[in-house]
Amino acid sequence: MENRKIALVTGGSRGIGRAVCLALAKSGADVAVNYAGKEEAAQQTCRMCEELGARTLAIQADVADNAQVNAMVDQVIAQFGRLDILVCNAGITRDNLLMRMAEQDFDQVIATNLKGVWNCMKAVCRPMMKQRWGRIVSMSSVVGVAGNAGQVNYAASKAGVIGMTKSLARELGSRGVTVNAIAPGFIETDMTAVLPENIKEGLLGSIPLGRLGQAEEVAALAAFLCSEQAGYITGQVIHVDGGMAM
Ligand code: NAP
Repeated sequence: MENRKIALVTGGSRGIGRAVCLALAKSGADVAVNYAGKEEAAQQTCRMCEELGARTLAIQADVADNAQVNAMVDQVIAQFGRLDILVCNAGITRDNLLMRMAEQDFDQVIATNLKGVWNCMKAVCRPMMKQRWGRIVSMSSVVGVAGNAGQVNYAASKAGVIGMTKSLARELGSRGVTVNAIAPGFIETDMTAVLPENIKEGLLGSIPLGRLGQAEEVAALAAFLCSEQAGYITGQVIHVDGGMAM
């Protein structure tokens, strides 16, 4: 039990986040599963991780809320004694063309996807620096690199995550804490299930591997970046997108 790593995954109730929780549990970590509202889904992730031998904790918190995030990190440390791994995965979309986009759709996406990552990074950096070991991985997106019509808010938030990741990697490098981002392409989750079939068909033409990705394919990279073996990788944005952006 002594050298088990303790991980916190935001948005761990579903999709990519759940797959990341499972991959970390499989690699021998105990996992705190954050969620926004879907408690039963978060409990289900916990049960699946426990079947893999992990201790778990489900925590409801809105990542956009600084006080809730601080309380969440305190709760994880109180329960498990430390925090080694943070995966900032929680994210939302509020798509529309800029000329039709409501101001609140911009603000909400930035608050959750960008400020949310800042809140979580800020809350964990002190304990990780103190223990001179840490792994931080954030979910950016191919859209944050290449842009996408109808997603100026989302693209800005995901590009922001890249700048934050690179800056924090420079700040924490000397303390043994690595900070990286993953840029998934189009992955089959609830987030992409809402896309109309004709849009999905059209997308396939821009993916050299000719298919959407699976959450497990993103999670495998996240677990590797959180491992001991990835200790010399920091400040990177790694694409898991079937070759969409190269
Ligand atoms: P998803 O299936 O829609 O799940 C979103 C997760 O985020 C849920 O666990 C949700 O919790 C949580 N969440 C949402 N708002 C939150 C908040 N304010 N505070 C805490 N948790 C919150 O999403 P996904 O497709 O797995 O995507 C995961 C991440 O990968 C996101 O950052 C997304 O932008 C990024 N990404 C996804 C794709 C893709 O194609 N799917 C591509 C590139 C990047 P509840 O279950 O409680 O609602």
